[in-house]
Parts: sequence; structure tokens; C-alpha cells
Amino acid sequence: MYSGSKSYFFKGNRYIRVTRSDTGPGTVDPGYPAPISNWGWPSGFGENGIDAALNSGSKTYFFKGDQYIRVTRSETGPGTVDPGYPAPISDWGWDREFVVVHFKSLLKIDPAVQDFIVEQFGAMRDLFTRSRIDVRRGTTEDLSGDSDLESLLVLDVGECKLGRPTEEHEDLFAHRDGAADDDLVIYIVQQLEGGDGNLVGCATHPDGRPGAAVVVTSARWLLAHEVGHVLSLRHVPRTPATNSDFLMWPDTGWTNVPPNVSAAETAKMLDSALTRPDPF
Ligand SMILES: [Zn+2]
Repeated sequence: MYSGSKSYFFKGNRYIRVTRSDTGPGTVDPGYPAPISNWGWPSGFGENGIDAALNSGSKTYFFKGDQYIRVTRSETGPGTVDPGYPAPISDWGWDREFVVVHFKSLLKIDPAVQDFIVEQFGAMRDLFTRSRIDVRRGTTEDLSGDSDLESLLVLDVGECKLGRPTEEHEDLFAHRDGAADDDLVIYIVQQLEGGDGNLVGCATHPDGRPGAAVVVTSARWLLAHEVGHVLSLRHVPRTPATNSDFLMWPDTGWTNVPPNVSAAETAKMLDSALTRPDPF
């Protein structure tokens, strides 16, 4: 651990303090090695050694196993352990969950469709990262050559109610080549017929075939919104009007960009079986 003019080296339950210059090994200060117990850490913490130490401004962090302590230090003294420590390393929020999203397009994947996919995916990935969800890009399949699917280009989504797929939903969402059971498949179609008559996305899907259907649109967080539904989010109410700051506003007229995701919504998405832990 580097700290001002001193460096500390730890080994088992002992340490040395070294006065260093920029390039040389420096000089071991008199009185070292010394017992690590000199640091006055909370009972039991690091008594047989630590795994890592990190100096950061006025604070130093010491790590051992899955615990750490934070210490307010001076340059040369052991300092004072801050209240509330040891605490679990998991507090640092490194654990992520991930979800895989595949694309299947009934439209020919020309540069415009390609740009749409890249922009929508990027906006969603950036937004969900803040919710500790790592959205990973799966496969991309151009289904425009499949004449059996032509009749689904204008997709009948009925009332577009979660859990109420139409026959056309069943037909389209049967195409899951390359997607694992828990992966999401996003189908790009020409038009969505149903709902309130002006749909750009619909997250209704058959049981066990998670995904959504979207049309190509400039509404940047459409995909994030639909994936939010698939991860069990519902719309925020239309009142108060400031709810339009939220991703789950019922239409694409977001008044804050990127739109907000509440802590409760984050917790709900992390609870979904489709977001899977990726412990670090
Ligand atoms: Zn919606």
C-alpha cells in the first residue's frame, strides 16, 4: 500500500513500513517488521493477514475474505477505523445480473434496420447498467426471406395484454433459433395491429417464450421499455404528469432522457428469473 512518502508491505500477520524514493527500493524504517495488530482493527479482522489494501484520499480500505474495513488515516499513523466496519465486499455493488437479447427481423436487415438495432440496444444497455443489469447481445437473424412469415409482417397483437398472446404471437414467437429458454427475442416487424391502434412495441409473449415485438422507430428507449415489461415492469400511472420522466411511462413521450428507473423497478427486474446472477 502506497501512502505519501511511505509504503507498507503486508505478509501474514506482520508488515513493514518503507520510506521510498520515486525509483529506488527505499529504506525499511526502524522497528519493522511489526505485528499487524498494531493497526488496531476490529476484533478478528485481518488478524492473520489481509488480502489487499487500497489508499484513496483520506481513506484506506483493507480487504480480507469477503469483508473490508474503511480507515481514516494520516500519512504515517494507523488512523481510526470508521464506524460500521467490517462490512461485506458485496456493498461495493460489483455483482451483476445479466440477460441476453436476440434480434429476429421480418424486415430485411438493411443499414436503417441495422442502425435501429444498434441504437436501441446501446440505449438499453447503458440504461440497465445503472440497475446492475448487464444486457448482452445475442444473435441477429434476418427472417425476411421466409415466405411463411410474410403474413406476420403486420402482427396482430390483440389487446397487447401481458399473458394474453394472439395466435400470431404464438406463430412468430415459435422462432427462437439460437436463443436459450431464459433469453429474450426481439422481433422486428413492419406494423403492430391492435392495442390502442398506435403501437410501436408490444411485450406480450407466449408462456416460456420471453420477448417482444417492435417496429422501427426513432423512440430511443422503446426497446428498453419493452424489455422492462418482459422483466415484469408495469406502466407508471399517467398522474402525476411528472411520471413521464420514467422509462415505464405508457407512451414514448419521455420528459427526461435517459428516462428514470426507480429503485423498486430495479429490484423487480433483478428478481425476474430472466435476469441471472453473474457473481464477481
Ligand atoms: Zn408499455
